[in-house]
Amino acid sequence: MLDICLLGTGGMMPLPNRWLTSFMARYNGSSLMIDCGEGTQIAVKEKGWSFKPIDIICFTHYHADHISGLPGILLTMGNAERTEPLTMIGPKGLERVVNALRVIAPELPFEIRYIEVDKPSQTIELNGYVIHAFRVNHNITCYGYTIEIKRAGRFSVEAAREREIPQMYWSRLQKGESIPYEGGVYTSDMVLGPPRKGIKVTYCTDTRPTVSIAEHARESDLFICEGMYAEKDKIAKAKQYKHMTFYEAAKLAKDANVKELWLTHYSPSLVRPEEYKKEVQKIFENTVLGKDGKTVELDFEEE
Ligand SMILES: [Zn+2]
Ligand SMILES: [Zn+2]
Repeated sequence: MLDICLLGTGGMMPLPNRWLTSFMARYNGSSLMIDCGEGTQIAVKEKGWSFKPIDIICFTHYHADHISGLPGILLTMGNAERTEPLTMIGPKGLERVVNALRVIAPELPFEIRYIEVDKPSQTIELNGYVIHAFRVNHNITCYGYTIEIKRAGRFSVEAAREREIPQMYWSRLQKGESIPYEGGVYTSDMVLGPPRKGIKVTYCTDTRPTVSIAEHARESDLFICEGMYAEKDKIAKAKQYKHMTFYEAAKLAKDANVKELWLTHYSPSLVRPEEYKKEVQKIFENTVLGKDGKTVELDFEEE
C-alpha cells in the first residue's frame, strides 16, 4: 500500500490555512518527500506523519517556495535521532544549493547523498520506489516526478513443481531473488508470470503544459498538477510566468488518461479555488481541488 499526502497547496508564499505545495509518500516503512518550502514541517506535524523515516527528498526546482523549508526539516530529522543516510534528488546544482542552506544547519547525525539529474528524463530506484524525473518547462530548470510501485507477476506453484524447485526457496524467488544451486541458478522468472499493474503517481508543478508531462503521467492512478490560476483571463500571466491554468492542467490529465487529478500550487490571489470546480470538470471530470493535508491510500488493483 502506498500512502500519499498533499501537505500543502499554495504557490509563492504560505498563507494562513494554506501551506506551500509539498508531497509526501509512505511505502513499506520508507517515506519520500517532494519539495519543502517554508512551513512544510508544520504541515507534516499537522498531518501527524513522522520525520524520521524520510529517506528521500526530491526537488522540482530551486525557487524558495519549493526548498526554503529544508534546513528546518533537516534539523528536525536530526533531533529525531536519525542516523541512516538521506538521499536527495534534484536538478543540477543540488549539492551547491543544499550546502548553502546547510550553513544554518551544519551538524546533522546522518549523511546526505546527492543525485543530480541533468538528462531530459532519468530513472532512480530506491527503497521500492521507482522514481522517474522528467524535465518540464519553467523559467528555471525544473523537473516533474513519477513515483511507481512495481508489482511482480503471480507465483506459479505448477511452474515451481515442474522445475522441481525446493519449496524452501519459493518465497525468496517470489520476492525477485536469484538463488544459485549446484548445477545452476533458480531465477524468479522461472516461477513468476508477467508483471502485473503497479501503482503510479505523478507530481508536477511550476511549468507550462508539455507533451512530455502527458507522456510521463500516462495512466497514473493519481496526477498532482499545478493550477496556479483559475480565472480564464489569466492565461497570459500563466504563459509569462511559466505556470498553468486549471484548464491546462485538466487538459493534460485528459490527454494522459489518468484516473484522478488533484490541483495544487494556487496563486495567493486565488482565495476560493473550489468555485471553479464545475468549470474545470467540464474538461476532466475526475478533477479534485487539492486541499492541504489531503490523503489517499493507493492499493494494487484486485484481480
Ligand atoms: Zn512555485
Ligand atoms: Zn517556480
